[in-house]
Amino acid sequence: MARAHTLGFPRIGAHRELKFALESFWSGATDEATLQETGRALRTRHWALQAQAGMDYVTVGDFAWYDQVLNTLALLGATPTRFRFDCKQLSLADYSALARGSNAHFAMEMTKWFDTNYHYLVPEWTPDLAFDGGIDWLFDEIVEAQAQTHRVKVVLLGPLSLLYLGKIKSGLAHKLDLLPRVLAGYQRVLKRLQAAGVEWVQIDEPILALELDEAWRDAFAPTYAELAPVAPSLLLTTYFDEVSTHAALLRDLPVAGVHLDLVRGAGQLDAFLADWPQDRVLSIGVIDGRNIWRANLDAALETLAPLHARFGDLLWIGPSCSLLHVPVDLAHETKLDDELKSWLSFATQKLDELALLKRALNGEIDAIQPQLAAARAALETRRNSPRIHNGFVQKRLAEVTDAHTRRAASFDTRIGRQQAKWKLPAFPTTTIGSFPQTAEIRRARAAYKRGEIGHLDYLERMRTEVRLVVQQQEALGLDVLVHGEPERNDMVEYFGEQLWGYAFTANGWVQSYGSRCVKPPFIYGDVYRPEAMTVGWSQYAQSLTEKPMKGMLTGPVTMLQWSFVRDDQPRATTALQIALALRDEVMDLEKAGIGMIQIDEPAFREGLPLKPRDWPQYLDWAVRAFKLSAAGVADETQIHTHMCYSEFNDILPWIAAMDADVITIETSRSDMELLDAFGRFAYPNDIGPGVYDIHSPRVPQVADMMRLLTKARGVIPDARLWVNPDCGLKTRNWAETREALANMVLAAHLLRQQAVLDQQVA
Ligand code: GLN
Ligand code: ZN
Repeated sequence: MARAHTLGFPRIGAHRELKFALESFWSGATDEATLQETGRALRTRHWALQAQAGMDYVTVGDFAWYDQVLNTLALLGATPTRFRFDCKQLSLADYSALARGSNAHFAMEMTKWFDTNYHYLVPEWTPDLAFDGGIDWLFDEIVEAQAQTHRVKVVLLGPLSLLYLGKIKSGLAHKLDLLPRVLAGYQRVLKRLQAAGVEWVQIDEPILALELDEAWRDAFAPTYAELAPVAPSLLLTTYFDEVSTHAALLRDLPVAGVHLDLVRGAGQLDAFLADWPQDRVLSIGVIDGRNIWRANLDAALETLAPLHARFGDLLWIGPSCSLLHVPVDLAHETKLDDELKSWLSFATQKLDELALLKRALNGEIDAIQPQLAAARAALETRRNSPRIHNGFVQKRLAEVTDAHTRRAASFDTRIGRQQAKWKLPAFPTTTIGSFPQTAEIRRARAAYKRGEIGHLDYLERMRTEVRLVVQQQEALGLDVLVHGEPERNDMVEYFGEQLWGYAFTANGWVQSYGSRCVKPPFIYGDVYRPEAMTVGWSQYAQSLTEKPMKGMLTGPVTMLQWSFVRDDQPRATTALQIALALRDEVMDLEKAGIGMIQIDEPAFREGLPLKPRDWPQYLDWAVRAFKLSAAGVADETQIHTHMCYSEFNDILPWIAAMDADVITIETSRSDMELLDAFGRFAYPNDIGPGVYDIHSPRVPQVADMMRLLTKARGVIPDARLWVNPDCGLKTRNWAETREALANMVLAAHLLRQQAVLDQQVA
């Protein structure tokens, strides 16, 4: 009999109960007992869902107050030593301090979990870490689940992935130098799990999906040779990409089972089937844990049936990865129409899909025919739906040629024309787009959404804001202005709401970090722009000033990256469709007299595949999509782009290939170090390295910015250098913003004088 399980379930709650309980606890409004109660209730509910759906085990260990990586550290006794906490006595307040910082300590660093939008807390590796035991929370949860009569499978982040994902803070030559101590810590935990009557431990080693160097690869065999003898049965899980290069390695590990992600790594199965040991569990991830589409159960069964014939009891069925990355329950979607809803599957529904697959394999196929037929019918309507296919879009895309993705003239020609037209001073000053999203703006939007104020009334309030933003920028003496984006709640949602093919959930929250969630839109059909999206705003803003007003758009790659994307065509195709819609918007802006247009791509780097060998393919279509959106304009029209969350060094040729006339990037936090790469690479076009960090409430001083700009002049020619903040200003208040920008403008003035002096001296 095949078994079913999930690699993890979202902990935040169908109504974000955990978020609200945590925030209330942090604010001091509720006590720890109340928070504990919410946690217990969520775990109880999620285990019951798994058991009722027909999972053979419930997964224990996927719950965390903030982050599962931090939980692992606290369990092992390896939280950052600079906090000086005793992990064995760690309180919830201490745990929160690690995650969120305190008066005495800055918070642990956070970074993206592989290519997901989940952020984990980065372990801090120092030689004084003991790994000699910590909190008992996991063991308490096991007792809790057992008391509810569940069969328990525990999930743990594996030792090598844990080590790999941390950062050396001091005193270590290599992360693997810590391995002996880490292993002793894991042995202790695994022994206790065995004593607690746990049958299976799912041990996650997602780093196997990366391109690992030899030192890491070679560490697997000895690591698991030490762990397996003292552990319950180990199911080693891989996910997020294929791991076929490690087939021999995984075959020889002394583990009781291995999990493969067949959604991301569809072709990898053969590499494992050849000489897979007779007694080894093979867990197959066939249900997509990274997307929200209803599964094709017939296709899954086709894959699974021969495996079941061969492996019998040893075949397990699961989602490709933890369900942490999808929303909790489709049942709470009230806004979506029935047809769209019938195409989707959230975490709760995915458990049902797993159970159906299991029952089909285990001889119950007749009993579940009605469910299978319903699934088939939903898929069929999706495939044929007129809402998905737009002949006009498809025809246009088919007609796209390289010429559409190339500006008519080279950068040198263009920039000459642009300078002749705009006559900007040296080191022009600008901002990234948004200005403070004040409480007033948010109130007006909420009132409009509730129907309390009418459309024109709302527009007028936003226009008032635009007037203020323009007038402030003129008073500050900025050279290239923006309208401030008051009308945008979110840079993707704003555009998605105006495009065919995009839809929004009411409650499709996915945990991003700690108590924070995002509600990504989803793209179900060919993307089509029925009418202009931003022209009215930009045109109005331009009418208020003689200075150039930048039009402001979100780029195709970011529109894709921050959404759930349809799975019935390549991502590249969807990106190019979005690019065509944006191209129309760009052309309309130009026609309306907007001569500078910024196409933001903050998520450009995020889209990179996990394996560098797959990068060129992604970068090729991503660059093409950007260029398709931008390249239709005249030479005089200046295309800007903006990127943050930088680290561009390894993809600079592609960033240059985007051929934006001006790029503004985040650099101030790294003290302009990122810029060195642009200098070494001799980045050809204009560039605005952020001169101050907008994430900090600290007002930047003129001297700070002069220092950074002087550094920038060392690597970027004067004629190519712009002056701007790191990112949009929407999270800052007006007082900070005014002061910061006044200082920035002054720094630019001083720089101009300095440059004149330098010339005279030379
Ligand atoms: N134009 C956007 C803004 O200023 C860019 C945001 C971003 O880079 N994330 O807010
Ligand atoms: Zn930014």
